[in-house]
Amino acid sequence: MSFQGKTAVITGSTSGIGLGIAHALGAAGANLVINSFTDADSDHEIAEGLAKQYGVTVRYIQADMSKGDDCRALITKAGACDILVNNAGIQYVAPIDEFPAAKWDAIIAINLTSSFHTTAVALPMMRKAGWGRVVNIASAHGLRASPFKSAYVSAKHGLVGMSKTVALETAGQGITCNAICPGYVLTPLVEAQIPDQMKAHNMDRETVIREVMLDRQPSRQFATVEQIGGTVVYLCSAAADQVTGTTISIDGGWTAM
Ligand code: NAD
Repeated sequence: MSFQGKTAVITGSTSGIGLGIAHALGAAGANLVINSFTDADSDHEIAEGLAKQYGVTVRYIQADMSKGDDCRALITKAGACDILVNNAGIQYVAPIDEFPAAKWDAIIAINLTSSFHTTAVALPMMRKAGWGRVVNIASAHGLRASPFKSAYVSAKHGLVGMSKTVALETAGQGITCNAICPGYVLTPLVEAQIPDQMKAHNMDRETVIREVMLDRQPSRQFATVEQIGGTVVYLCSAAADQVTGTTISIDGGWTAM
């Protein structure tokens, strides 16, 4: 598989799933634009490391995905966008009647509205090139609900709906748009929750993972960032030319129930 000459823009890609996707697309030969809102030395070092490892061009562009103008500027500054992966996301957990309005707004902005802005700017570039891929990183929570995650579940269901709409608006133009719906993936974000859960449930690490974190994931195994990255590469391949407007679950059977 080679995406030589193609440029992939991946939002929120200096850690976790986004970084895993950057590795997979870089290994497949795509030039990369990676992003976070921090503009830290470590962000630039990640870009340099990816460029060295895969022999592709990698640029780091700072942009805050909670701000519409930043989202649009990210794509404009990238200059080219053949593959757009909308990955940036945050989480907050509380009952809806106690959910802080500011947290609701931030989750909807970063997890849903940012994809509207980036896609709106990227599609004309893709149409001009006659080829494009939009891959939205939704979640099992784009297809199923859990209590206390009202904003996240709403944003991810919305992202699945937007993916279908974009697919219809680009059908037959060499452009596809799909949503990947992972179950639990062992990213730094999830790893950080394990010690607290061990304390709260008085369980060892393995039991917490199996009985508490993965209780809705029948395989009782985490999905990996490599598996998500591999699925993005597949969606960008010619084999997926007619795969558009759909969801791909990587959730160990969660949504089969
Ligand atoms: P993570 O915290 O490791 O990565 C999130 C990324 O988003 C980071 O790179 C962060 O810098 C970026 N980000 C957050 N706010 C931003 C902002 N305002 N502007 C720009 N970038 C911002 O988490 P992750 O687990 O890798 O999550 C990545 C995506 O995958 C999210 O959309 C998340 O909802 C989704 N997801 C994760 C899991 C999981 O179990 N980890 C499961 C399903 C879906």
